[in-house]
Amino acid sequence: MAILEEPIKGVPMVKNYIDGEWVESKGEIIEVVNPVTCEPIAKVGISTKDEIDAAVAAAKEAFPDWRMTPAVTRARYLLRLLQLLEENFENLSRIQTQEHGKTIDESRGETRRGIENVEVACGIPTLMMGDASEDIASGIDEYLIRVPLGVFGIIGPFNFPFMIPLWSAPYAVATGNTIVIKPSSEVPNSQNAIAELVEEAGFPPGVWNVVHGGRTVVNGMLDHPEIEGITFVGSTPTMEEVIYPRCGATGKRVIAQGGAVNVIVIMPDCNVEATIPGLMTSFFGNAGQRCLAGQTLAIVDDKGDFYESFMEKVVAYAKNIIIGNGLDESVQMGPVRDPQKKERILGYIEIGLKEGARLRLDGRNPTIQGDYPDTCFLGPTILENCEPGMRVVNEEIFGPTMSVVRVKDLDAAIKLCNEVPMHNGHAIFTSNGKHARQFQYEVISGNVGINIGIVAPMAFYPFSGMKGSFLGVLHTQGKEAVRFFTESKVCIHRWL
Ligand code: NAD
Repeated sequence: MAILEEPIKGVPMVKNYIDGEWVESKGEIIEVVNPVTCEPIAKVGISTKDEIDAAVAAAKEAFPDWRMTPAVTRARYLLRLLQLLEENFENLSRIQTQEHGKTIDESRGETRRGIENVEVACGIPTLMMGDASEDIASGIDEYLIRVPLGVFGIIGPFNFPFMIPLWSAPYAVATGNTIVIKPSSEVPNSQNAIAELVEEAGFPPGVWNVVHGGRTVVNGMLDHPEIEGITFVGSTPTMEEVIYPRCGATGKRVIAQGGAVNVIVIMPDCNVEATIPGLMTSFFGNAGQRCLAGQTLAIVDDKGDFYESFMEKVVAYAKNIIIGNGLDESVQMGPVRDPQKKERILGYIEIGLKEGARLRLDGRNPTIQGDYPDTCFLGPTILENCEPGMRVVNEEIFGPTMSVVRVKDLDAAIKLCNEVPMHNGHAIFTSNGKHARQFQYEVISGNVGINIGIVAPMAFYPFSGMKGSFLGVLHTQGKEAVRFFTESKVCIHRWL
């Protein structure tokens, strides 16, 4: 099958977008490498403290006028952006595949999910409405208005370079705040492609800024007195050790979304034919680099034949997944993002084997469609004989692996879900409504799947997460994001 044309040509410099200007960073310059070819596709600067300070200053200066811009007018800027995103849909998707490695269909899904957040934020005149009561006491009225706060920082991870900052950015600017986005420096192109469309849509300079880099930029945001709040999506250690405590120390509101160890429970009464394709995308889609990916498969079947007949089908599907360049439309799984991530996943497979797991499917030397180095490629890997408490069950591997645990009943499966340390998106496959309800009721999980393998909330629902996967109160997306990016101002009037 023909390979789709790559959108990024040559090795361009990815600039910062500050105050409506494209500026090259004065920091160290690093290469952005396509994980399929291992060739550089761009260069990006690791921005300095001065550069993040300049972006915050521009955002601060833009805030008063932007706040005074009526919500309906702010929505019209977003509607123009929405139209441009749709017109550039395929190009934006290909950029994600080229810089991240995911398949083009996975990128198209990511683009769609990102755009949906812009669509929801276009309803801001309604979403931002307050409450009012007449005569709370004799001749006294009370009402609540939602007001923007100022400058917000948005920090993204490497695995959804396009979509994740859009869980926050459209709501932040729709409510009248101004923003500085810090994408992962591993995949900086997607956010610049959006910022180019923001510029074309005519947003005033300083409202939407992008500063590339690493810890210096993040620390510069966390310590900056003019930043009111932060949304962060990334790993649990960064969330717990850096983001949340530092936001607390500097008095910033924060949404902090961390890692995940998702358990998928299989009941013997599930619809097997419908379940297995769902499991394949859950465990191996995006090469397992998804915060909603299944990591542990808990099959409820104490001693019966169901376990083996189910596993035979899982293996038969998994070993036929086509691995290669995501710009080849026939490919079903791309590489992991970089060689270090591959080494880390290989390390976990070794740990699992030492802990007593058995390799039912070995993806360590996969067959790749096309002539590419195997530097970042891994095939689906299935570890059987896993037990609750093993590291391959409990720790986030973030790769195309499946740790299979055989459990005796639903109670044991729910206990397993509730004992892993991160609770983003556990799911159950069953045709029994009572079991489904018990699972939903008892499981600790921000997002719960019933016969759904990837529990991704639509843009008008919050993107939830619990214990170990989330710190904060409100979540990104939808009405909760509107609440997060505004303060409730309560006014009480008496006119004599
Ligand atoms: P990461 O924590 O390494 O990096 C996230 C961001 O924080 C990046 O922009 C990075 O530059 C910055 N950063 C990293 N370490 C830092 C430090 N010590 N100080 C300051 N800044 C730092 O995460 P990642 O590897 O880019 O992303 C993968 C992780 O994100 C996985 O754990 C995955 O589960 C998680 N994730 C969670 C969700 C969710 O909704 N909960 C969604 C997507 C990804």
